[in-house]
Amino acid sequence: TATRRPLMAGNWKMNLNHLEAIALVQKLAFSLNEKQLTDVETVVLPPFTDLRSVQTLVDGDKLLIGYGAQDLSPFQSGAYTGEISGAQLAKLGCQYVVVGHSERRAYHYEDDALVNAKVAAALVNGLTPILCVGEGLEVREELRHVPHCCGQLDAALQGLKPEQVAGLVIAYEPIWAIGTGKTATPENAQEVCGAVRERVAETFGKETADQVRILYGGSVKAANIAGIMAQPDVDGALVGGASLDAEEFVQICRFPE
Ligand code: PEP
Repeated sequence: TATRRPLMAGNWKMNLNHLEAIALVQKLAFSLNEKQLTDVETVVLPPFTDLRSVQTLVDGDKLLIGYGAQDLSPFQSGAYTGEISGAQLAKLGCQYVVVGHSERRAYHYEDDALVNAKVAAALVNGLTPILCVGEGLEVREELRHVPHCCGQLDAALQGLKPEQVAGLVIAYEPIWAIGTGKTATPENAQEVCGAVRERVAETFGKETADQVRILYGGSVKAANIAGIMAQPDVDGALVGGASLDAEEFVQICRFPE
């Protein structure tokens, strides 16, 4: 089996202006460098308006922090008022882009076809999609969470080649655990992350499934990360609220200690 480098990605959501972004990235970099933490990949996902400042800081100080955006347009350019293209994000040095976050699906009516188009747009521009799947409380209570997440996955990956899927990041984020303080148990996380990897193996082959990184997201904190990371099919975390606190996020990135 391939060795997958752990990835901790901080989704800032609609928080922090560009000055606050600089302060947080500086704090993060200071703590990470102090610990020589290179075995875990650390990524921040700031709002669009902060990206240029983060780029300047990361490039200028050669920081060991990656960054990306929280969304992108499915289109390359043109008359799409208010949208940001993958080309624009790539030009700003973004490596990653979140696609299909449950908040986008819920508040911006993003459906599976749009998520699929956004995954394609990210890849065309050399960005790594962090593709989110996850079930709401009702689906979980009806015990339909595995087929639900695999269905979202199938739709989002439609038309992709195995080598494209191998480089992806998939995030399992149960909606009932996002921002609620209710974390899935490590076993809950493993059940779906394992099923997602199996589904990738069925559709794209075992080699692809061994390479693709699968994250868990939903109320991850320093206090619960170790148990989650101990699961065989969990390769990292997508962290919302706790990523806004430098100390807490660095503690999460230092889970092996
Ligand atoms: C998220 O929205 O990606 C997330 C996991 O949020 P939180 O960690 O705040 O639950």
